[in-house]
This record gives sequence, structure tokens and C-alpha cells, in this order.
Amino acid sequence: MTTAPDPDAQTRVAVAVETPQHSGVNATLDYLSEQPLAPGTMVRVPLGKRTVLGIVWPAAAGEAPEASLRPVTEVLDGLPALPEAWCRLVTFASGYYQRSIGELALAVLPPELHKLDRAGFAQRLARLRKALDSARPAAAADTPPPPSEAQATLLGQLAALEPGRTVLLHGVTGSGKTEVYLRAAEATLAAGRQVLVLVPEINLTPQLEARFAARFAGRRLVTLHSALTPVQRLRHWLTAQLGEADLVLGTRMAVFAPLPRLGLVVVDEEHDPSYKQQEGARYSARDLAVYRGRLEQATVLLGSATPSLESWQRAQDGRYLKLALPQRIGGGSLPRVRLVDMSQQPRQTTIAAPLVEAIRERIARGEQSLVFLNRRGYAPVLHCTDCGWKSGCPHCSAWRVFHKLDRSLRCHHCGLAERVPRACPECGNLDIAPIGRGTERLEEQLAGLLAGPDGRAVRIARIDADSTRGKGALEARLDSVHAGDVDVLVGTQMVTKGHDFRRITLVAAVAPDAALFSSDFRAAERLFALLMQAAGRAGRDADQAAASEMWVQTWHPRHPLYEALRRHDFEAFAASQLRERESAGLPPFSHLAMLRADAKTAAAAREFLEAAAATAEPLDSAAAVTLYPPVPLTVARVADVERLQMLVECAARPALQRFLAEWLPQLIALRRRSGHAILRWAVDVDPLSI
Ligand code: ADP
Ligand code: ZN
Ligand code: ZN
Repeated sequence: MTTAPDPDAQTRVAVAVETPQHSGVNATLDYLSEQPLAPGTMVRVPLGKRTVLGIVWPAAAGEAPEASLRPVTEVLDGLPALPEAWCRLVTFASGYYQRSIGELALAVLPPELHKLDRAGFAQRLARLRKALDSARPAAAADTPPPPSEAQATLLGQLAALEPGRTVLLHGVTGSGKTEVYLRAAEATLAAGRQVLVLVPEINLTPQLEARFAARFAGRRLVTLHSALTPVQRLRHWLTAQLGEADLVLGTRMAVFAPLPRLGLVVVDEEHDPSYKQQEGARYSARDLAVYRGRLEQATVLLGSATPSLESWQRAQDGRYLKLALPQRIGGGSLPRVRLVDMSQQPRQTTIAAPLVEAIRERIARGEQSLVFLNRRGYAPVLHCTDCGWKSGCPHCSAWRVFHKLDRSLRCHHCGLAERVPRACPECGNLDIAPIGRGTERLEEQLAGLLAGPDGRAVRIARIDADSTRGKGALEARLDSVHAGDVDVLVGTQMVTKGHDFRRITLVAAVAPDAALFSSDFRAAERLFALLMQAAGRAGRDADQAAASEMWVQTWHPRHPLYEALRRHDFEAFAASQLRERESAGLPPFSHLAMLRADAKTAAAAREFLEAAAATAEPLDSAAAVTLYPPVPLTVARVADVERLQMLVECAARPALQRFLAEWLPQLIALRRRSGHAILRWAVDVDPLSI
């Protein structure tokens, strides 16, 4: 006979468990426990027929336990409870981004943790503790250069700051921002506190990690990002949670790293869109870092050469302290920007003759060039010259891209890949031709244009998602660039990220205009940041800086964006953008949320969104918001799913939050009612792409 637990001898604990998406925002489940459990304790609990990982959550006390509650299965002990600040961060994020606490809390823990029972966990922990004890980091740290005058002043200001402040560090590439991060980290560690460093994509910025590792060789630094194996990620996370990590360096997920003595958060390239999670809880790690700094009385250092206009505006308002490093270290100049007016070039020009000549000169001098184009593959579409057939994707409202190397037609949205047909599938015509170009074709064009008179080939390396798919492929290609085995580097925006190339003296954007006419109001901001960052890859060696150039092929050379780029004038660009945003009532002068719906038919998605708008009408909080009519996403259909979205706009953030909190339960109820044949819906707060 099984004995039912005696509810009188037990306490009731609230536990955050992974509940389905919208089963009620902020809900935790109650369980019984033999002994009181501190909030932040990890437990395993029954959920339906399964036993799952859960976290004891701070709860309103009082209610007596009920006999119907199920007991906690086991406690994962041996680890300190997750810090209270961690629970508060998760609670805040769950409310702000309109997801359940359980979903968010469990999603940001290392996945491996979900698999371990009490015994397995104890074993892992014991092994880790032993490893940590036997491998105390020692050996020699590199010697920092003495700070420049500008850096010294800035570091003084940082040291004098009251805790919990956010600083926007605006400095061109090469102005010594990273050195400031390192110095600030040093001071934080010396004060016995921990440092969190967030980077957009770790594999694209291996040097940053290397610099931190070299400077803090005597300290324990762990990384957190998606390229780690599940076991590594668990080990690193546990090291942080045990309080044994001095520094954590990671991608957006690392903003949730439990650090009991956090003193400094650095967000490098704070404008980078990859800080925003694009699925599940769509949080912004940058924005959460700012919140976390306040919560834990840690300084937050947001660094960028082209800050996001949201951060820039906050710095103007005085909410962030704005600090600047206006000069490159060593007085090196920024590359001279040369705009090629494509309307003045012969028809069919792919790469303008003066640009080809400039690259040739570089090759002759043993310098490198970087040419980028934000589109991979050979050509974005194939077409039949007879009947007009185009290589559409049968499952998406998009073209399939022609990849010449493996002669495939590939859909970049649903992944459908097929061999290129020999003849037009509609009329049998053998003459099917590519339209437009991607990086593969650009590489081919450059090889043709740059070949010497004797036919000697130039050494070109292409870096994009296709050429770097294999393990180690990216590193190998970057190594050959650094070693000087490459004359011209071709790639997508992947190559414009934080690489510290020493021999590149020319950077060229061959077709960046499309973003000038995008329907997304942030397209210009992103293009400007991309071009500035790309420019920053040239002339990183002060010796070569004077001769370095950034080339832009454009049909609109007098566009104000390019004018500002020519002068490297972020402030002027930001001011003009902010004026436009203010008059149009766009962020940062308003606040947005997006309701998205996926369905088999566009009509079903539209119907759901329209019904959602109708449920908003009677709400008190709806008076403060504007709901726009549903519209399809730019690529409306992906893998046979139709995607529509509805914009919610509000003048003030708290009013938007109030509205969403009232609206969400309506949406959950609406979804439960039959008749809305949608597959998924989601709310995206502060959406990045519109
Ligand atoms: P950013 O992060 O703004 O691009 P870095 O911190 O990487 O700038 O600095 C650019 C280059 O200048 C690096 O090679 C760095 O080692 C060097 N550097 C930075 N600060 C100093 C300094 N105070 N003295 C000498 N060299 C420095
Ligand atoms: Zn045809
Ligand atoms: Zn497709």
C-alpha cells in the first residue's frame, strides 16, 4: 500500500517548470516538500507523466498546502541556490517579453541539466569541483599597454561612477574600446567582483576572447555560447553558478549566467541585432543587461562605433552616461571613403574599373582587399529566356538561389535543395540563365577581372555561410588571410565583423543600395553600422592607415547616408535619423510590439489577427495604443506556412506593458476557442525587424 503524503508535515513550494508557451503568463506550479526549500533551488518534480527539472520560485507565502498537491521528486543539492537577483531578472524578463516564468527560466538553463537526476547531477558536480581544484589558473598574463590620455580620463570617469549606471562608450573601430573593457574588468576583479562580457557572435570575434584570455591568464574565464558541446556548456555554467568564474564571456544567452558577485557587464557592439533572440522568449540581451546592472549594482558598459539609436537617444537624454573615444589609437586615420557613381559607369558594369585598378595596386604592394556583398550563392534566381520561368520555391514566396559549385537550386528559407535542371522545366528551353549575383559569382567576376596579363591567378578566399560550413573551415580561412596567403577576401557581412585584419587596406561594398529603400525603418541604421564596421576592417595597422580606402558602388552617391559615411560622421547620421523617427513617431520616440500569426492560409492568419484586434477594443489600456491592420511578412510564405503580423504602437513603454498584460490572456482565450485555424502565434516586444 502506498502512503499518501501527510499534507500537514509538508510545506508548499512554488516551482517554475517548463510549461507550454502561453499556458498563463507568470504561472508557477505548487508542490509539496518535506522541508522548506530556498528560492532558486533546483528540483525535479512530476509534471503529467514525466519528471522534469524545476526551480523553486519566490512565492507569496501563506496558503496552506493542499492534499491534492504532488510532492517534489528530488532536490538537486550540492549547489548554492540560484541567486535572488537571477530569479528577479527572469521574473522581469518574463513579464516584459510576455512569456511564462517557467518557459523562460528553464529555457535559459543549460539543456544538459534537464537530463540529470539527483545522482547524475551529484556525480557531475563532484567531478567538476575536483577539476576546478586541481586546475587553478596560473602562468603569465600579458602586460597591458599604458592607457592613452583619452583612455585614462575615461577610466577615471568609470571608476568614479555610482554603481548600477549604464555607460555608452562611443568610439570608432581601433579607438581602444576593447582596452577600456580590459582595464575596467581588471578593476572590477581587483575589487573582488565578477565580470560578464557579451559579444554578438563568438566565432566571428575569436580575437576578443583571445585578448581576454591572455590578459586574465591568472583568472578563471568561461565562455557560454551555442557552439559549446552540451557538456561543456553545463560545466561552464556550473562554474559560474558556483562562484568560481571570474569572467564569463558569451553570446546573448550569457546575460542569464548566474554570477553571485557581478560587478561589470560589457556589451560589445551593443547595436548588433544578434542580441535579440528571434524565437521563444524574444528578449534583447542588451536591454536585459542594462536592467541587470541596476538590479545587481553593476556598471554596464555598452560599446560601439555606431550605437543603436535607442541607446544613443538615452545617452542624449542623460539616462546613460556618454563617453567617447573619438580617435584611433596611434592617431591612425580612418579609411578614405570613395563613392563610385554606378550611373556613370558603362552598362553591365559589375565592378567599376577604378575599383579593379585600386585592388590591383594593393595586390602589387602585397596588401589585401576585402570585397563584400550581402547575398550568398551564385545568383539569387535562374530564369528562362524563352518563357520567363523563374526558379521559385514551391513552398515559399521566395526564389531559389542558384549555387554554381554544387549546381543546386536552394531555398534559403525552407532549405529545399535540388539539382539545377538541364532545361527549363516549363518549356524545355536549354537557355536558362542566372539573374543578379551572390558571393560565388562575385568571386568569379573578381577572378576574371584581376587575373594578370600572363593569366596568373589572384588568390581569393570566400567567406560566407556556404564556404565555412565544415568544422574548422572558418578558422582555416581566417588563418590563411592572417598569414597573408590571400590577396582578396570576398564574403557576406560575416567578414565585416570584429576581425582584426592587419594587412587589409581596401574594403569595398559592391551593391549596398537595396537597404536605402527597404520598408523596414531600421534598414538605414543597419546599413550605416555595417558600412562603418566594414570600413573599420581597413588600415588597422597605423602604418597603413593613411593609404586605406573604403569603396562603395552606388546609384545614389548623394544620399545623406553616404554623405555621413564619407565623413565617418555617426553623430550627424544619428541626428538626421532621430529627426525622421521623431516626426514619424517611430522608436525610440514610440514603443512597439508585434503580434505574429502563422497559418496554413493567409486568410486564417488574418482572421486571427483581426479577432485579436477586436478583443483589444474593450480593454481600458487599449486607449493608449494604436493597432495597425495585419500585413504579411516580407517573405510571406515559408515552408507552406503563411505568416502575417500586426503592429502595436504606443507612446510610452509602461502603457504598452499595461496593454500587453491585459491583452495576452485575451489572446490565449481566443486561441483556445475553436475556429481559429492558426499554427502558432507570438508577441514580439521591441521587435527589431518590421
Ligand atoms: P577597439 O576595440 O575600439 O577597436 P582596441 O582596444 O582593439 O580598439 O585597440 C585598437 C588597437 O590599439 C589594438 O591593437 C590595441 O592593442 C591597441 N591599443 C589599445 N589601447 C592602447 C594603448 N593604450 N597603447 C597602445 N596600444 C593600444
Ligand atoms: Zn522556359
Ligand atoms: Zn522554400
